[in-house]
Amino acid sequence: MKILVCGGAGYIGSHVVRALVEKGYEVVVLDNLSTGHEGAVSKKAVIEIGDIRDKAFLKQIFTVHQIDCVMHFCAHSLVGESMNEPLKYYHNNVYGTLCLLETMVGHGVKNFVFSSTAAIYGEPEESPITEESNKNPTNTYGETKLAVEKMLKWMDGAYELKSMTFRYFNAAGAHLSGEIGEDHNPETHLIPLILKTALGQRDQISIFGEDYPTPDGSCIRDYIHVMDIASAHILGMEKLLAGGKSSVYNLGDGKGFSVKEVIAKIKALSSKAFVVKVAKRRPGDPAKLIASSQKAQRELDWTPKHSDLDTIIKTAWKWHQNHPQGYNK
Ligand code: UDP
Repeated sequence: MKILVCGGAGYIGSHVVRALVEKGYEVVVLDNLSTGHEGAVSKKAVIEIGDIRDKAFLKQIFTVHQIDCVMHFCAHSLVGESMNEPLKYYHNNVYGTLCLLETMVGHGVKNFVFSSTAAIYGEPEESPITEESNKNPTNTYGETKLAVEKMLKWMDGAYELKSMTFRYFNAAGAHLSGEIGEDHNPETHLIPLILKTALGQRDQISIFGEDYPTPDGSCIRDYIHVMDIASAHILGMEKLLAGGKSSVYNLGDGKGFSVKEVIAKIKALSSKAFVVKVAKRRPGDPAKLIASSQKAQRELDWTPKHSDLDTIIKTAWKWHQNHPQGYNK
């Protein structure tokens, strides 16, 4: 079985690639390395450097490799940037995916695993959030992912292109080996930013708002270990390859931690002291996002194994300590 992992040099993609090669799948990684890192890609995978919007390049990949399933992680994913540069987001996330789907249809490849996001739900009207909850993205990033989800429904009807879509809540942590982890530039995510502060690479960590309607006033998020995300993708893909129907799954741990709780946990686990300041709210941040992942647990027999906050932080801390400059060192 040959799997094409688009965006396989990125944070989540690279962990999925590892999990695939460990299970004996042949993996081809397609990545333009705009945000990904060649060093994140397993040596057992073939890497093809190029862009999903380059149709000639895509055609060549699908001609050279007999692909059984495509996993798609290529996307711009910075919420703030998506509000300032929406066209950039539509171009890569929507048009890029369109190019990929056209090429798949042209080559008769019918299995697609799609990386979506909890950002499609926007400000939640219920907690925990289920797959059926209302979808009202509050930013362009979430809107572009929702646009692709809608596209996939029609692909199934017209071309029998089957898809598994995963809506991640807060992906976090690093591979247990400490060899791959999170390396974004710029980094905007809470856990890596706190860890960089603990390492002395930043002066302070800001809590974006402590006046939310939560017990300690800071935002609550559902953190899910990147290796658990990877295992769900493989289960979903295997279900598709066995003739399963298209479906959509939330991926979270079902538990929420506030920004202040995460900071306290990192202080305790790292034994480092660092400066914490309270800052203004970040626009567009819902107070609380918690997933119901019961559907994935029930239908895919998926169980998060590494998503307790201690394991998330310990694995991320190991990665950051061993790679203070990310993949550059
Ligand atoms: N956050 C924060 N300080 C930071 C970065 C993030 O207080 O320097 C908060 C952010 O407002 C949100 C939570 O931490 O409530 C998680 O943010 P992140 O960007 O990691 O993920 P998101 O929930 O936006 O996908």
